[in-house]
Amino acid sequence: MGTMSQDSPKQFVNDLEQVRKLVTAIPGPLSIAMQNRRIAAVSSGVGATLPIFVTKAGGGIVLDVDGNSLIDMGSGIAVTSVGNSAKDVVDGLTKQAQNFTHTCFMVTQYEGYVEVCEALNQLTPGDHEKRSALFNTGAEAVENAVKIARAYTKRQAVVVFEHGYHGRTNLTMGMTAKVMPYKYSFGPFAPEIYRVPMSYPARDGLTGIQAAQNAISRMEKEIGSDQIAAIVVEPIQGEGGFIVPAPGFIPALVNYANKSGIVFIADEIQTGFCRTGNWFASEHEGIVPDLITTAKGIAGGLPLSAVTGRAEIMDAVHPGGLGGTYGGNPVACAAALGSIAIMQRENLIARAKQIEAIMKTHLETLAQETGVILDIRGRGAMIAIEIVKAGSTESDPELTSKIAKACHAQGVIVLTAGTYGNVLRFLPPLVISDSLLNEAMQVIAEQFEIALR
Ligand SMILES: *Cc1c(COP(=O)(O)O)cnc(C)c1O
Repeated sequence: MGTMSQDSPKQFVNDLEQVRKLVTAIPGPLSIAMQNRRIAAVSSGVGATLPIFVTKAGGGIVLDVDGNSLIDMGSGIAVTSVGNSAKDVVDGLTKQAQNFTHTCFMVTQYEGYVEVCEALNQLTPGDHEKRSALFNTGAEAVENAVKIARAYTKRQAVVVFEHGYHGRTNLTMGMTAKVMPYKYSFGPFAPEIYRVPMSYPARDGLTGIQAAQNAISRMEKEIGSDQIAAIVVEPIQGEGGFIVPAPGFIPALVNYANKSGIVFIADEIQTGFCRTGNWFASEHEGIVPDLITTAKGIAGGLPLSAVTGRAEIMDAVHPGGLGGTYGGNPVACAAALGSIAIMQRENLIARAKQIEAIMKTHLETLAQETGVILDIRGRGAMIAIEIVKAGSTESDPELTSKIAKACHAQGVIVLTAGTYGNVLRFLPPLVISDSLLNEAMQVIAEQFEIALR
C-alpha cells in the first residue's frame, strides 16, 4: 500500500492542473450571469456558500466557468474524500451505467448492492455478525436506523445531543439541534426525540465521564432507561463544529446503552471512510456501535447511504419493512466499490493523518499569532478552529464569516460550522497535494492577518 504525496501520479480522470489560479474576481462575469439565471429559476430557500458555477473538479482543485482554479478545502462537505472524478470511481460507474442504470433492488437484485454491504460489514468496527441496508442520503440512513432500533427494542424514545446534526427530513430535523437555518418555521417535529448535553471540552470544563453522567442522569430522570430505543450520536460532531467529546464520554454512553438494552447508533455520515484517520471515528473511541450510519464519503460523490450493524438488530424488521425505489442504486454502488478500492490501495487513512499534522502545525502558529482561536480540534482531515473575540471565550461569527469570504475571494473554498457560527472547518479531499494544502493554510493565515490589522 502506498501513501499519497505531492508526487503521486494523477488519480483522477480529467487533466486539471493542480494549481490555484485566479483570472477574474470571484465570482467572475460568467458566474454572475449564471447566478442571475439561478435566482430566476431556483428556489431562494436553497443556499450556496460561494456564488460560482463549476465546470470541472479533480484532486484538490475546483475549476469555475470563468476559468478560476480554486483549492478545495471542503470536498462538497466531506463527500469527495477520494477526490472528484477519481479514476476507479469513474471507471466503475461508467461500466455499470453501460450495463444497466436501475432495476430497483426490491424488484430484481444485483451483485453490486451485496458487495457494498459485504464491504461495510467487514470495514465497520466489531467482528460480530453484521447486516447492512442501503439508501440514498444521510438523513434517510438516520431515519432507517431509528426505525430499525424501534422495531428491535419495541421502544420509542430517541436520544440525541446538543449541537448534533442528523439531516433535514422531518424526523432528522427534529433530531438536529440548530434552529437556523435547518428547522426554523418547519415544525411541528416528530415526537419522542429528547436532547441531552454533549461533552464540549473547550467550553464545559468537564471530563468525559462527568459529561456522560449528566447526559445519563437526564435520560434516567426525564425519559426512563427502559423507554429509550436508541442513543444517536456523532463521534465527532460535524455541522455542530467538529466537537470532539472529552475522552471517556462516548465509551460511557455505549456502556450505559449496553446495560439498558438501548441501541447505540453512531452517526458516522461525516466522520466515516478514512476522513478522521481511521475507517470510522468510533475506532478512536475504542467502541463498537450497535448500528452505524454512513453516507457522504462512501461513494466518491454519488448519492448512497447505509445502515450497518448487529445481525439480530438489522434482521428484527419484518421483511419488506426497509427499502426505497432508488436505495443502493447500481451506479452508486459501483462508485462506492471504486472509492473503497482507492482508500485501501492508496492508504488514505495514513494520508488523513499526514493532513492533520500539516493543518495543525499551521493552525497552532495562527492561534499564537492572532489570539482569537479558542480551540483547534478534530482528527485526520476533519479539522476546525473556533473563533472568539481576543482574550475571551465570546464567539465571533462576524470575523468567522469575514475570513471565510476573504478566503473564497482568494480562491480557497472553506466552510463554516458551529451552533454559534464561529467555527471555520477544513475537509480537504484526502488526495490533495502537500503544496496545495500548505498554500491553502497560508492563504487562510493571510486573511486573518488582514482582518485583524
Ligand atoms: C450530512 C449529515 C447528515 C445528513 O446527510 P444528507 O445526505 O445531507 O441527508 C446526517 N448526519 C451527519 C452527521 C451529517 O454530517
